[in-house]
Amino acid sequence: MNRTTIRFGSILAAAAAASLAAVTAPKLPQDPKPGYRDTPQLPSGWRVHDAERPRPPAVDPGPARDPVPPPADATVLFDGTNLDAWRGRDGAAKWTIADGAMQVNRTGDIETKAGFGDCQLHVEWCAPNPAKGESQGRGNSGVFLFGRYEVQVLDSYDNPTYADGQASALYGQNPPLVNACRPPGQWQTYDIFFRAPRFAADGSVLAKARVTVVHNGIVTQLDEELLGQTSHRALPKYEAHGPTGPIRLQDHGDPVRFRNIWVRPLQLERAAAPK
Ligand code: MG
Repeated sequence: MNRTTIRFGSILAAAAAASLAAVTAPKLPQDPKPGYRDTPQLPSGWRVHDAERPRPPAVDPGPARDPVPPPADATVLFDGTNLDAWRGRDGAAKWTIADGAMQVNRTGDIETKAGFGDCQLHVEWCAPNPAKGESQGRGNSGVFLFGRYEVQVLDSYDNPTYADGQASALYGQNPPLVNACRPPGQWQTYDIFFRAPRFAADGSVLAKARVTVVHNGIVTQLDEELLGQTSHRALPKYEAHGPTGPIRLQDHGDPVRFRNIWVRPLQLERAAAPK
C-alpha cells in the first residue's frame, strides 16, 4: 500500500465516520458474490454454494398469467380455500390463507398428508413485494420432493446469490440454466417433473432421482440427476426411502405466498408387449 492509498483510506474512514454520525447505520452495498469458498467440492468441480460459480443469465419470461387449471387426473393439493391436504410441524398446517393463496407465517414447514413418488407437480408462488433482505434472505422458500429434495424458491429478481441457491436451483447441487424470475409481487409457476430414486433392499442406490423444472414456461433444469438429498454447506448424499413421500413447502421466515398446487402421479412402467 502506498502513501496515496493510505491517505485516501483515511479520507474514506473520516467520511464513513461522518456519515455514521449523520445517519443511524450506513447501508452496506450488497455483496456482489455471495457464497462460500470453503465448502466441499461437487462432482462438477464447483464447491457447494460456490461464490465463484457463474450465475445464470436472466431471461424475461413475459407477463404473469392466470392460474393454470389442473388437468382432470390431477390431485389438487391447494385450491385457495383450505389446507386440508397438508399438515404442519405439530399437527395441523397453520399457514395463513387469504385471497386464494397460502402464506408462510413462521409456523414451520408444511407437507402433504399423502405421499407421492414419480410425479408432475405444478406450484405457483409469489415473493413478497416490496422485496426485503438480500441473497438467501429475500423471498426464500422451497419445494421439497419426498420432503428432502429441494427445488429452491427465492426472489432471484435482481438479487445476487450463489448460483446453486437461486430460484429453481436444485439447492446446493445445480444452478438453473437461466434465471427466469419475475419481479417480486408477481405470480410465478414451477412445473416439476420428478423421477424418484430407486433403492435396493440393502439401501444402496439403484437409480438416482431425475428432475426437470420449468420456471415460468422456461426450462431451467432438464432431466438432471440429483446427487442426493438437499443439505446446506455439505455434499448431498442419499438415504434410502420408500417409493413415495410427502411434498414439503419450506418456511424460511419470508412471507412467500403459494396458490394453485396440483400433482399428477406418473406411472412410468409401461405395459409389456404380448409374447
Ligand atoms: Mg429454500
